[in-house]
Amino acid sequence: MRTAVFPGSFDPVTLGHVDIINRALPMFDRLILAIGENSAKKSLFPLEKRMEWLQDIYRSEDNVEVKSYAGLTIDFSRQCGASFLVRGLRSTLDFEYEKTIAQLNRSLEDGLDTIFLVCEPEYSHISSTIVREILINRGDATPFLHGKVAAKIMEALDRQQ
Ligand code: ADP
Repeated sequence: MRTAVFPGSFDPVTLGHVDIINRALPMFDRLILAIGENSAKKSLFPLEKRMEWLQDIYRSEDNVEVKSYAGLTIDFSRQCGASFLVRGLRSTLDFEYEKTIAQLNRSLEDGLDTIFLVCEPEYSHISSTIVREILINRGDATPFLHGKVAAKIMEALDRQQ
């Protein structure tokens, strides 16, 4: 069974993530969307919400699982029996950063390869950071969000306060 892990913060999930996930899906038997509880990164949205939104989008896809993990991505991937990591690239800036992480992960875990997918041009300006900025300032982020969860994400901040 060909298993891949797509690790990320998904804070929140955007159309940029969805593009990468949808294109990675046919490549693997099992794709695990893994939300890392990053010790250095404070998230805007709680972990449960970030997981719920991914589950809402991929409820009908049997080969997608949504999980969370703490610690190293390589350890989590080994526990899942995954031989691949999936990451998305928007720019050369993403590439430089991702290349270092991919090389590091491979040096720590023999046989773990990172598969990079280059985003469609229309998504190259979308990031969770920008979406968070829009939401915090009460702007309309729906053009960057999946239709199944856009309303929930737009309302989530009000409920949190
Ligand atoms: P992280 O905090 O690990 O970078 P993110 O949720 O921000 O987590 O991103 C997870 C992955 O999704 C990364 O590989 C990132 O490059 C990719 N990604 C995010 N937005 C886009 C986009 N618009 N197009 C392509 N890939 C994207």
